[in-house]
Amino acid sequence: MPFTALGLSESLVRAIAEQGYESPTPIQEKAIPVVLSGKDLIATAQTGTGKTASFVLPIIERLAGRKLRGKRIRALVLVPTRELAVQVAENISRYAKYSNISYLAMYGGSEIALHKRQLIDGVDIVVATPGRLLDMAHQRALHFDELECLVLDEADRMLDMGFIGDINKIIERLPEERQNLLFSATISPQVKQLVKTTIHHAVEILLAGSDVNKPDISQWLVTVDKDKKSALLSHLIQTHQWQQALIFIRTKHGAVKLVEQLAKRGIVADYIHGDRSQVVRMQILDDFKSGKCGLLVATGVAARGLDIDDLDRVVNYDLPNEIDEYIHRIGRTGRAGAKGEAVSLVSKDDFKTLCSIESRLGHIIERRDLEEFAPRKVVPISILNYVPKSKRT
Ligand code: AMP
Repeated sequence: MPFTALGLSESLVRAIAEQGYESPTPIQEKAIPVVLSGKDLIATAQTGTGKTASFVLPIIERLAGRKLRGKRIRALVLVPTRELAVQVAENISRYAKYSNISYLAMYGGSEIALHKRQLIDGVDIVVATPGRLLDMAHQRALHFDELECLVLDEADRMLDMGFIGDINKIIERLPEERQNLLFSATISPQVKQLVKTTIHHAVEILLAGSDVNKPDISQWLVTVDKDKKSALLSHLIQTHQWQQALIFIRTKHGAVKLVEQLAKRGIVADYIHGDRSQVVRMQILDDFKSGKCGLLVATGVAARGLDIDDLDRVVNYDLPNEIDEYIHRIGRTGRAGAKGEAVSLVSKDDFKTLCSIESRLGHIIERRDLEEFAPRKVVPISILNYVPKSKRT
């Protein structure tokens, strides 16, 4: 199906063509007509499926060329992180190239005074993290009385990050008559609760299930003792000549230490975690995207919302505790049709987490154990229908 068949105007179709997109992705094909019709939408779609364009394009279509009053905003996109705010705004700038649309990204650390000035004449689309948006609303820098559309992007992450209080406070301030769009990689119980209270008659689009969307992600793991992980990682990087990997690690301290350990083996890597300044994080991200530094060690929190295209692989140096987080991580690779790889280093302590992840995936992850790294503490073969003790009835 061509983009023209979705009901988008020429100015948008031209901007899309310039991006080199040949046809809509499945989420775009399904979501764009729903958003254009003004209906509410709940879509289960991960990063990498083209979900941003699936709401940005029809919102631009609906809003373009209409007059705005001062301090008013017409669409609000709430996102969990500053990185995602920047990324969504970048998408808007690309797609709105030939449309008359104003937009603004606001997040913790961004310039309050500058944004206040930009809001004076009103802004069509505001992309914001919940805390900063509330802050600006409290300062009466913007008013919601003309808001037409609310987007909750990566809703599950926003809730994981504890934004429910802020989100509710924001929703209370919005006009009741509005369009609601919710995008989430997973529909967790908290997301269900949020839907219950905010969205009543939505069209639901289910694209979830990493395996349905991501046929080209090869997932494999190596079992290893904890104290051999950095040696194993170096070995994998060198023998497979990995040019690019986003390496997830549990702690900030661990990230710094791993980069040092890799350096001792002649491998150059950088790290990113929540304590590094915004400027440094952006610089590192640019270097990673441009290939200047192909190996990036990141804590889960720091990596949230990062948009990195054509990522060859993700490495779980530490498995995440949350199963949804595993799905998010592997969703960063194999984007837009490219082949991807998700490699996990698993030690005995991770056994229960591994079982939970595999139960959720519905299959066991292939093991590619290496004799020279055979663990002293053997990781048992997984149990697929494993239920953690706390969840047993
Ligand atoms: P997203 O899921 O919104 O993070 O998008 C993932 C990537 O897919 C982005 O880099 C987009 O530029 C790209 N993309 C979005 N729509 C399409 C499309 N129809 N065809 C090809 N690539 C696309």
